[in-house]
Amino acid sequence: MLVQQILKSKSTDGVFTIKPGTSVADAASVLSNNRIGSVVVSATGDTAEGILSERDIVRELGKRGATCMADLVDDMMTKNLVTCGLGDKADDILEKMTNGRFRHMPVIEDGKMVGLITLGDVVKSRLTELSMEKDALEGMIMGH
Ligand code: AMP
Repeated sequence: MLVQQILKSKSTDGVFTIKPGTSVADAASVLSNNRIGSVVVSATGDTAEGILSERDIVRELGKRGATCMADLVDDMMTKNLVTCGLGDKADDILEKMTNGRFRHMPVIEDGKMVGLITLGDVVKSRLTELSMEKDALEGMIMGH
């Protein structure tokens, strides 16, 4: 399965973004209000300058306490983003996420962000694929 197909099967469209210069407290509100685990930091809405995950916030909270909530996301976000394209294969994405220990990947096409896929999206698509393969094999064995 390709990233393009995974994106099409998602119920939510678009990517939640915040602008550089946003406080970590405001970013945490975006995560909490939208029940998401990470938000892309983007000046224009279709670029990806960085990503801020709930894990980044919890790590700093554990280290420095609540004062980190007043920081700007620019100082806490991950800037070295691993991204993917619409034509990438789900298996390759799973490998990159597993090796890199992250669960979110912006999808970039012609320099613009066109979506975001999560580990959950990829696992769900793989399970659907496996179930279809199983049905097809059963059909062949039973002669349907
Ligand atoms: P996550 O598991 O995606 O919530 O994030 C775990 C860590 O990886 C956090 O430090 C994130 O900022 C970072 N991270 C999340 N997504 C990516 C990505 N696509 N590329 C690089 N780092 C990421």
